[in-house]
Amino acid sequence: MSLDLARYHRQMLLPGFGAEGQRRLLGSTALLLGCGALGTVAADMLARAGVGHLVIVDRDFIELTNLQRQVLFDEQDVADAIPKAEAARRKIARINSQVEVTAIVDDINYGNIERYAAGADILVDGLDNFETRYLANDCAVKHGIPYVYGGAVGTAGMAYAILPHSQHGDAWWETSPAGNHATPCFRCIFEAAPPPGENPTCDTVGVIGPAVSIIANFQVAETLKILTGNLDRVCPTLLTIDLWANTMTHLKVTYVRESSDCPCCKYRHFEYLEGKAGSRAIALCGRDAVQLTHRQNRGELDFDEIAGRLRHYGTVVVNEFMVRAEIRDNDKTFELTLFADGRAIVKGTGEASVARGVYAKYVGN
Ligand SMILES: [Zn+2]
Repeated sequence: MSLDLARYHRQMLLPGFGAEGQRRLLGSTALLLGCGALGTVAADMLARAGVGHLVIVDRDFIELTNLQRQVLFDEQDVADAIPKAEAARRKIARINSQVEVTAIVDDINYGNIERYAAGADILVDGLDNFETRYLANDCAVKHGIPYVYGGAVGTAGMAYAILPHSQHGDAWWETSPAGNHATPCFRCIFEAAPPPGENPTCDTVGVIGPAVSIIANFQVAETLKILTGNLDRVCPTLLTIDLWANTMTHLKVTYVRESSDCPCCKYRHFEYLEGKAGSRAIALCGRDAVQLTHRQNRGELDFDEIAGRLRHYGTVVVNEFMVRAEIRDNDKTFELTLFADGRAIVKGTGEASVARGVYAKYVGN
């Protein structure tokens, strides 16, 4: 089957791109880790560019405060309580029907990331926390999949394309920015996550749309270079941009790998992937909310039964993806959302212990 390439004419004009580059893109699979501010911009541009298969994994649904920066979503998506991955799939189907989208409503964790990454040519970071980035990095290094890190908060952001050694004996990385070596990995560059409370989040310092979209678009550029085989064009430095301070900095990081004692890429100890590091309750960026994951073998939840019970406490919304209940508990109001995989998001608190308490009280242990 030959696809019509006419719509890609303007990018095929670029040197090193052409019809060959376009065919490579159409034959590629990108895994988008998260579909929030970074992820929607990346998904939008990658779909328009004709990356043939996008696998979009996101655990969340769309809120009104997302619309300020999450470009694929609109007010109707908020009203319909559509999960982000599914809303993105529907929107992209209207943007480029040549692109296949697999939408997965799930939390990315050590138990599923390798399954979602199987067959992916690249991992694109749309994450909002360090812990899951270490996990993505473990997966990328273990399987030799390029991983394009990006992060933004406030008025600033950072991005860097990580090219690990290929595990398939390919020579593609020989033209990588680090010569015939792998680039440093995420853990080489960021040895440890900042302690809780010291890491600025969208919740504490806010975020402006352009800070996220400039970083996401840089990630997209790196992704297009990698997928079209233009590895000599991949940015060899860690980019940082601050749109309020008007600064753009390129940090040289290629030497970091030689000097670091990285457990991940040097000793191939994949602690995050093996579930030895990381926690089960995560405060969510940009929201007064905590996510609880991996409830013990809960299996499928009976949404109708739970919804019936929770209606005693406040308004309940049920659809095929989730149950969401407003719960008035003494003088506080929580919003509890349960997903089919047993995951829960408790809104109205930033504290894991309070969130666990609400879950235990209204859903059970
Ligand atoms: Zn490393």
